[in-house]
Amino acid sequence: ALPQKALTIYDFLFDPEPAAFEGSSGARLERPDPTGRTWLIDASSPRQYTFEQTRKRTDDIARAFCAKGLEAGDTILVFSPNDLDYGPVLWAGFRAGAASSCANPSYTHAELALQMDTVNKHYPVRFLVVHPDAIETAVKACETSGLSTKMIVLIRSPSDSPANIKSLASGFPTLDDLVSSTSNEPLPPKFSLKQDEAKTRLAFLSFSSGTTGVPKAVMIPHFAVISNVLQDALHWSKSNNFVPYDAKTKKGDVVMGCLPFYHIYGLVVILHHSIWQNTPVVIHSKFDPRLFLESITAHRISTLYLVPPQVIFMVKQDDLVKQFDLSSVRMVMAGAAPLTDETISAFRTRFPHIAIGQGYGMTESSTIISTMDASHDFPGASAGYLLPNVEAKIVSPEGKALPPKQVGELLARMPSIALGYLNNDKATKETFDDEGFLHTGDEGFIDEHSRLFITDRIKELIKCSGFQVAPAELEGHLLAHEDVQDVCVIGVPDERKGEVPKAYVVVSPGAASRVKSGGSSAENALVDSIKKFVSDHKIKYKWLAEVEFIDAIPKTPSGKLLRRDLRTLHAQKVKAQ
Ligand code: AMP
Repeated sequence: ALPQKALTIYDFLFDPEPAAFEGSSGARLERPDPTGRTWLIDASSPRQYTFEQTRKRTDDIARAFCAKGLEAGDTILVFSPNDLDYGPVLWAGFRAGAASSCANPSYTHAELALQMDTVNKHYPVRFLVVHPDAIETAVKACETSGLSTKMIVLIRSPSDSPANIKSLASGFPTLDDLVSSTSNEPLPPKFSLKQDEAKTRLAFLSFSSGTTGVPKAVMIPHFAVISNVLQDALHWSKSNNFVPYDAKTKKGDVVMGCLPFYHIYGLVVILHHSIWQNTPVVIHSKFDPRLFLESITAHRISTLYLVPPQVIFMVKQDDLVKQFDLSSVRMVMAGAAPLTDETISAFRTRFPHIAIGQGYGMTESSTIISTMDASHDFPGASAGYLLPNVEAKIVSPEGKALPPKQVGELLARMPSIALGYLNNDKATKETFDDEGFLHTGDEGFIDEHSRLFITDRIKELIKCSGFQVAPAELEGHLLAHEDVQDVCVIGVPDERKGEVPKAYVVVSPGAASRVKSGGSSAENALVDSIKKFVSDHKIKYKWLAEVEFIDAIPKTPSGKLLRRDLRTLHAQKVKAQ
């Protein structure tokens, strides 16, 4: 079941038509009736929005943005943790024909400036919607990229922020200021898609490093997001029999919204899919273990979308966990990085009433490619069944299609595929092939029951607590350190975070002689200085966990870094310890 009409995400969420989606295969999905349903709930205050309130808030913000100059083809950049108004800001942009690009609010100003510059070159950034606590970084990023700070709007009032932030933020309008100062303006006509731009009009510019290189802007059209919601609704929602929440009886499914909306998993699966099917999202601005548990009890949350470290937390922090009533939870889906069989078994022993499994997807596929079903004994190591409308093949390094159960690279073709990387034809051609298949850079197999298993990652990407770390980004940065002559960054296993970055460094001759004469204290000082060079400029999950010196970085004759050799070297070192 896919949208036949050209819909924006705004239409998809807020217009009652079409009442159902029909697919060529005969699959039919009714559009859930949102009338009177609760959609968005703030975990840390009594604020919540019904469907009608969400639409009104979205329209009010759209009116304000348009009155202040937002036009079709512009972008809104959101630099904020999850917030009740996060969705309305995005959807207000869609109502006006603008795209959105969401950034991690803990980025340094250089990281944010890079995202703004990349997007702004092709889709002018008209508004930078900022959480007050991130205002300092946002202002610096505007200065770095030469963009005006006049486009900054605060997503909420800085009333709860520290005094220094409050005084800086007081110079900028809040969304509420914008909405109240434009309330007498007419609501501009809704932006509508022409039939031929259904699959090409951009909704999101989300960042991913793909199979190689530095982070790039992934072009995600409206159609891709809507398709992924419908595909997921056909498989995951049907098999789990989601029940729309009824505020009067307090019955029905409620969803945990503690994963960031600036990442594709939180953005599509949690924010869009959940509310479309009228299962409200309890919005957390960050993962606070106690608030997470408290809100499960308080809101009778049934569905937890998590990343592996949070599943590990639920299993390992039993003293805290057992103080809360978690009887409302009936499913946990973990994604964004692999979850081990051991953790899943431990979870099942501890919480036998909860079905747990994995979902697998990528930014480039507008999230879900495969997901678990509702059974309590779904094989933990499996990444689930392919969603309807996903075609997949497993190929050898030479590109030959392999039979079931044989391990190779996963290629997938589906309606939710992104259009490619903004202004980067080379990377687009490498990842999105001529036949429409996405080269995932992940290795795995499909078993005789059509279940996908991801066994390894062949692309360069490191996943730290579910966040992307691009080795090429850190390598490029580290080469600017005066004592670094050559470098290769790999991901090494970490019990809690999955993987952490480690740098193998060839030091410059000057540094080498300093270390030779100064001994271990000089060596430690050099390690500290290299680590600090990263921590001073990059967000925390990119910080180096380890630095090791090496005589030469192993490379192919053509100069390609042999990361696998270094991963083996690291494994041998750990084994020998
Ligand atoms: P992102 O674009 O940040 O969502 O990252 C996508 C990548 O995360 C995939 O290509 C995989 O390498 C990894 N990933 C996501 N989900 C899983 C999973 N369930 N098992 C293994 N790897 C996963």
